[in-house]
Amino acid sequence: MGAITIQHIVKNFSRDIQVLKDLELQIEDGSFTVLLGPSGCGKSTLLRIIAGLETPTSGRVLLDGQDITDTEPGQRQLAMVFQNYALYPHMTAEQNVEYGLKIKKVPKEERRRRVQDALAMVELGDQAQKRPAQMSGGQRQRVALARALVKSPKVFLMDEPLSNLDAKLRNQMRVKISQLYRQLGSTFLYVTHDQVEAMSMGTDIVILNQGKIMQRGTPQQIYTDPQNTFVAGFIGSPP
Ligand code: ADP
Ligand code: MG
Repeated sequence: MGAITIQHIVKNFSRDIQVLKDLELQIEDGSFTVLLGPSGCGKSTLLRIIAGLETPTSGRVLLDGQDITDTEPGQRQLAMVFQNYALYPHMTAEQNVEYGLKIKKVPKEERRRRVQDALAMVELGDQAQKRPAQMSGGQRQRVALARALVKSPKVFLMDEPLSNLDAKLRNQMRVKISQLYRQLGSTFLYVTHDQVEAMSMGTDIVILNQGKIMQRGTPQQIYTDPQNTFVAGFIGSPP
């Protein structure tokens, strides 16, 4: 299970700045939903609200029908992957992946097994003792992925996880993330401003502009039947 319901979410950063405007959205269990839109449209803010890193001005967030709006971030069964990896520089890859489980007091044996599995899933089994500074950008992003995988969350939240990688690595990682999605069957909510990435990875696409949903549908529907000039222009324009 891993369905997210967004009910009337509003976010104001000040009296004059409304970043999310009464959003209503159902993210289906087991979908790979891509939140697509131009820079500044509110994608990260929505993801951070779902993760509990930001409080909505009003509205509710539900996970599998349960209201989690006031639940601590660590208690939500979600894992977030950030654009800038957010790894601890003084820890090895293995320690970075293990850290969240230690905090949750998962027993040592189980921890070791889960960390090994997670690192193996991203093909980093042989890099476990390296620190972030000794790794490439692609390897660091895979450590960040492993850190999310090890939690076995209901939902993976990914905020432009590939935007710091070069084009070749970005392609490889797209394939890797799509593989993990098919393998796990969990829900993925993936933020990007890149139409090509969205169309190639998503089962569902949600197009956001200026804090409002412009259209939602399958890649095919969005591509062949844009509902307004914004979507037509955004999808039609080169990445
Ligand atoms: P996106 O991820 O789609 O690029 P964001 O959600 O980061 O967009 O930001 C949406 C808007 O909210 C932007 O105009 C941004 O400047 C503003 N914003 C984001 N975070 C804050 C904040 N903590 N305080 C004030 N304004 C913010
Ligand atoms: Mg963003």
